[in-house]
Order: sequence, then structure tokens, then C-alpha cells
Amino acid sequence: MVRPSWEPVIGLEVHAQLSTESKLFCACKAAFGASPNTNVCPTCLGLPGALPVLNAEAVRMAVKAALALGCTIRPESRFARKNYFYPDLPKGYQISQFDEPFSDHGHLDVEIGGTIKRARILRIHMEEDAGKNLHGFGADSVVDLNRAGVPLVEIVGEPDLSSPEEASEYLRVLRDVLLFLGINDGNLEEGSFRCDANVSIRPVGETKLGTRVELKNINSFKFVEKAIATEIQRQEEILEGGGRVVQETRGWDADKGTTYSLRSKETAQDYRYFPEPDLPPLVLDEVFVARARAELPEPPREKRARFVAELGLTPYAAQVLTQHPRVAAFFEEAATLGLSLGPAKVANFVQSEVLRDVTTQGQRATIPVSAKQIADLLRLVETGKISGKQAKELYAKMRGTDAAPASLVSELGMAQVTDPKAIEEICAKVIAENEKQASQLRAGKTALFGFFVGQVMKATKGSANPQLVNDTLKRLLDVS
Ligand code: ADP
Ligand code: MG
Ligand code: ZN
Repeated sequence: MVRPSWEPVIGLEVHAQLSTESKLFCACKAAFGASPNTNVCPTCLGLPGALPVLNAEAVRMAVKAALALGCTIRPESRFARKNYFYPDLPKGYQISQFDEPFSDHGHLDVEIGGTIKRARILRIHMEEDAGKNLHGFGADSVVDLNRAGVPLVEIVGEPDLSSPEEASEYLRVLRDVLLFLGINDGNLEEGSFRCDANVSIRPVGETKLGTRVELKNINSFKFVEKAIATEIQRQEEILEGGGRVVQETRGWDADKGTTYSLRSKETAQDYRYFPEPDLPPLVLDEVFVARARAELPEPPREKRARFVAELGLTPYAAQVLTQHPRVAAFFEEAATLGLSLGPAKVANFVQSEVLRDVTTQGQRATIPVSAKQIADLLRLVETGKISGKQAKELYAKMRGTDAAPASLVSELGMAQVTDPKAIEEICAKVIAENEKQASQLRAGKTALFGFFVGQVMKATKGSANPQLVNDTLKRLLDVS
């Protein structure tokens, strides 16, 4: 019998924390990293009698996410209680949305091997995060409720992805979109962007979906593909051995490189969902939605395309300079301020020098110079005041300070030698000191020209105007 070949089917559920100041239903700070249980109040501790009040900023951010993903916004939606018992959930239920989410039917375009694949999004809903159980305090487990009540959107993808690579690309594109919207930190390791991967396989040509397994705890991009590929292989082995896949939730063990059973899959009935009685229906009127739409920034994919089409960058440069919204904004500002230089020159310098010193953390980026400093610096090169090599040195001196490049040039005595007489003197001296090479060059060994340029640059510590050096040497050495 011919072995069937299997087609993987993957649907991703992404939980993205919204970067609001405060939590979804109370005024507590939503920030990551505070000492345990300091950002808590009766509402997020679930104390009796405390009532939730919806955070309008979280709603605005959630609506932006939905609009950016092409979703329909429902004019009226509802919060629901999802009941389960776990120590990190002090109320005994999570406020989420169930059968009436605020948005549905969107899509995300993912580029795989040069072709665009459209992955549909089933729905996006809002919910509150749970706290965090921490294990290994001696024999104890403890709970930190700072995260309880932090706003989340859950973005539920249709099972449209068909390989581990497509799944990880989908996640990267989605993370980029949310990062550039300014509403999420995109940090898998810190858990501000979390992914559950639903994986099933079916014989190629089959249209019915196979039994799925839900993978949890994939907390790094590095492991997304690995975890899914491992699970696909496990299912293939089961089916080829004549067994059947059990619908369950499995965890990813990064150390062992395997998935392991966590629990049998729970169903909606298990959660006894019911409408949240303490919150009115969520009404999103046209004005609110139109305002959110008007505030949508340029999406990263379009920004990249524009950097290529309008600014003349290479696709690679455009990619590198749009890794982070702050970096992209920095580059664009420098390119605008240094308009006469051409954006490609600015891009080159930012890529080769500045990016090395840039660190990003969530929505923030640390860039050691201002866009104006870079534009001013490159203008000094353009007008021949300093050489390209000096520009790099100047940048190294300037970073971390707010010094103006022009004043640093005079402070450091760095100005480029553009005096033809001075350059001619140096060239003549170099030729005199290297008579042998000079006669070889004159006899036709033209490759030696570079040697002379190098010697002159060395003698001037890189400060001579390269064009002038070239012209002068050609004249003195009779090369055309
Ligand atoms: P639940 O919320 O209980 O996990 P849903 O029906 O909402 O269940 O489905 C959640 C996710 O599972 C969606 O992202 C969907 O694309 C995916 N999914 C559903 N069926 C399959 C399947 N057979 N194979 C792979 N993914 C699937
Ligand atoms: Mg699920
Ligand atoms: Zn609170």
C-alpha cells in the first residue's frame, strides 16, 4: 500500500496584552515587572462587592487591532464570565467575550516563498488576563496577581495555515502589526504576546479536518516552528501506526524538544459561560470606530513598500529599518531632515553605524543620537567638510551626547583637507617616498594606484578629500 502523505492544518490563537496604563476593569497599573502583588485592588483581587468599570483606552486599542486586521466591528457586543477554578484567577471566573465578541471576520496576509497567502481571522475578543502562579519557593507555590485584570485581545485564526513555517510567519507579521499600532509589546518571552497552536493533520486531498491538539507554552519564536513540526510528526506516527489522535491540550517541553499531554481538551460547556451581569453591553458607535480608524498608523508592510518605492531603499534596507516603529520613525525623520542627501545615504549610515547601538524593549527604543544629529553629520560629508571615514569617527564621539556635529568637528580638529595645494604636497611626498612603485605604475601596473591612494589617506589620517586625492595622484602619476 502506498503511504498517504499528510497535510498539516494549523490554526493559531494569539493572546496579546494591550499596552494601556491601567488594567481592563480597575485603575491599577498594568505594567510588567513591579514587585509581586503591588498593583492590585479589590476589583482585580475579586473581593466581594467590587465592581468592574471598563477601560475606554483598552477598547480603543482593541478596536484598532480589529480594524488593522480587516475585521468587522459589532455595534453591540457583550462580556461573559468564563468560569473555572485556578489559584491565579481570584474571582473564580475570567471576564471575557463569548458568543458576542466585539469583532470578527478579518484576515492577515502572510508572504511565503514570494507568494501572498491570506489567512482568515475568525474573531477578536477582549478579555482580562489572569495572575501568575510561581513555583519553587521551597515547597511552596505562590501567586502574583499584578497581571490579573491586564487587558488582552484574543485573536482567533481560522485553520488556514499549512506548515510550521507559515505559522511562524503569521505570528511575526501579526506581532509587527500590533507593535506598529502601538498597542502591544510583542514579547513572547515576557508573555505580552502569547500563542496557542492548534494542530491536526489529514491525508492530502481530504477536506474534512482531522482531530486537533492544542499546544500551549510556546514562549519563543525560536520554538514555534519546532513545536508544531514535532507535533505534526507525532500525529503522523500515530496515524501511520493505525492509532488515532486524541483531542487534548499538550505542552511544549523546550529542553526535551517534545510535546507532552497536559489535559484532555475542555469544551465551552465546561466553562459554563454566562453574560457578565456587572457590565452593560459594549456599544461601539460609528463615531468611536471612525476615530479609531483615523488614528491607524501606516502598517509595517506598507511602510516597507513605500521605503522601497518612494525612498529608493533596497528591500533589505527597508526590512531592517522597519524592525521597530521607533527605529522606522527615527530613520524617516533623519531622511526628511537630510533631504538633499537622498534617503539611501541616510539609510546606509543608520544601518551600518547607528543600528549597532540601538536597543529595543517593547514599544520603547534607545537610540543614542537624534535624527537631526545624523542629518547634520551627513550634510558635513555631503559638503566635503569631512570624509566618510571621519563621519564614522565623529558619530562614535557624538553618540550618547547631544553635541552638534559641526561643533565637534572644530573641537576635534577634524575638518577634511580640501586645500588642493596641501593635498598636492602630500601626494608628491608619498610618490617621492615610493619611487619604485611609482615607476612600476607608470610602466603600466595600474593596480598600484590604490596603493598610493591608501598611502595618502594614511598620511592624512583619512582627512583628505578622496576625490581630490584621486585627481591629484592621477595627474602627478600620469594615469588617465
Ligand atoms: P477553543 O476556543 O475551544 O480552542 P475554537 O473552535 O474556538 O476552540 O478553535 C480554536 C482554534 O482552533 C482556532 O484557531 C481554529 O482555527 C483552530 N482549529 C479548529 N479546528 C482545527 C483543526 N481540526 N485543526 C487545526 N486547527 C483547528
Ligand atoms: Mg483554544
Ligand atoms: Zn485592580
